[in-house]
Amino acid sequence: MKEDLTVLLVSPEVVPFAKTGGLADVAGALPLALKGLVNEVRVVLPLYLEVRKKNLPLTPVAQDISVMVGRYRRGGTVYQTDLNKAITVYLLENDTYYDRDKLYGTSKGDYHDNTERFTFFCKGALELCRKINFRPDIIHCHDWQTALIPAYLKTIYRDDPFFARTATVFTIHNIGYQGLFEKDAMEITGLPADAFTVNGVEFYGKVNFLKAGIVYSEVINTVSKKYSEEIQTPEFGFGLDGILRYRSQDLFGILNGVDYDEWNPESDRFIAEKFSLKNLAGKRACKLDLMKEFKISDQFSNYPFVGVISRLADQKGFDLLAQIINDMMKLNLVFVLLGTGDQKYHDLFNRISKEFPGRTGIRIGFDNALAHKIEAGCNMFLMPSRYEPCGLNQMYSLKYGTIPIVRATGGLDDTIKNFEPKTGKGNGFKFTSYASQDLFAKIREAVAVYADQNAWMQVTRNAMSADFSWGASAKQYRELYAKALLKRQGKVR
Ligand code: ADP
Repeated sequence: MKEDLTVLLVSPEVVPFAKTGGLADVAGALPLALKGLVNEVRVVLPLYLEVRKKNLPLTPVAQDISVMVGRYRRGGTVYQTDLNKAITVYLLENDTYYDRDKLYGTSKGDYHDNTERFTFFCKGALELCRKINFRPDIIHCHDWQTALIPAYLKTIYRDDPFFARTATVFTIHNIGYQGLFEKDAMEITGLPADAFTVNGVEFYGKVNFLKAGIVYSEVINTVSKKYSEEIQTPEFGFGLDGILRYRSQDLFGILNGVDYDEWNPESDRFIAEKFSLKNLAGKRACKLDLMKEFKISDQFSNYPFVGVISRLADQKGFDLLAQIINDMMKLNLVFVLLGTGDQKYHDLFNRISKEFPGRTGIRIGFDNALAHKIEAGCNMFLMPSRYEPCGLNQMYSLKYGTIPIVRATGGLDDTIKNFEPKTGKGNGFKFTSYASQDLFAKIREAVAVYADQNAWMQVTRNAMSADFSWGASAKQYRELYAKALLKRQGKVR
């Protein structure tokens, strides 16, 4: 059933325009999946240098969008492009803020003016609506960079008839990133002083953008059911568990979907040879291709290849891996990693690469084509995360018959079932405690199952037949939008 709804999806990153992580995949795929389920979805993101470099045809649609950022009036033009010629995408320009190498900061730290950059983005998105006379029923905001929008609609825009019907849905992709700033950020945001309380955006004397999204939006969701429960506990809530428990009636979990047009070994344009569950010969060709790419010695071609593609951050469990990596390398396996992030992990993996030449493939960097080759050419995929809101790579891995080894947290717990050779059930290997010996035991177990051809074929079948396409999740978002609208109209509490 189609809901009579119009949606503006506001995100700081959207595939294929700009990406640092899974949020971009979601913001690029969800609008397409919503087609046919709602009347219209449009998307807005900043016009970063990364977007400009793509040399897309850009049509100006709104000149002189102008808003107050602190005491200064800031302006920019909005350009229009599209997603697959099906979804209108707006790019908000302001070169002072967005004409930079990275989206949020460099390896030395976040940009010092992120309060201004994302105040401008939030206010700019609202002014854009007015300027082009687009009255969305729903503004769907993603992460802290967009979280002032719900706060503006409940404060400085409260009595604005233009947005009288507009409800907000706020999606938390990772509660570890909150947009936390000194108190003087209040002036930059232009929020009224009385919003600076524990019931508003104040957080231990600072201004917390993410909290604004949680407090002021009609409904909140996160990207797996398990993570929506976890963030209500002190262990995972990063200080916001109290306010989330307070809003638990309005807090939901919707698993991210996978864009199988992008991540599918039967059609993947980046891999050496396509393959499927019915014809796995191509997977061997992909492994050989990966060996060439990383100069893996021929003698190891029958070892299981264990892959990692990740931001190299503490969240991803690399401190656990660091504790056992030398023991892991004593097992008969090849280790392949693509990632970028904290220097300490660059150092760790560069050291491993030197210590185990011919048995490791380490690439520090961001490389989408190589990510596809690793998914296709490896046999196992490692995600020992401390926490994982949803995780996309374990779902991609399943489709490529690259069996995930994961910790039971967030979306990893919701999507991966431990393989039991006795019953033949399960699509991966899953450990529970955040303990290095448990991680090591699981890797050893996976290597043992790999040695048993029948058992490995069974877990591969279970993995490759899993379906996490966007259809089901998009329908849940449609229901969430309808719920948000009812709340806005005061029809439900
Ligand atoms: P997160 O959003 O926490 O980074 P997800 O698993 O949800 O983690 O999404 C990560 C996305 O970013 C995946 O699409 C993954 O393939 C991609 N990715 C992460 N690191 C790299 C890298 N170094 N090179 C290419 N793609 C990467």
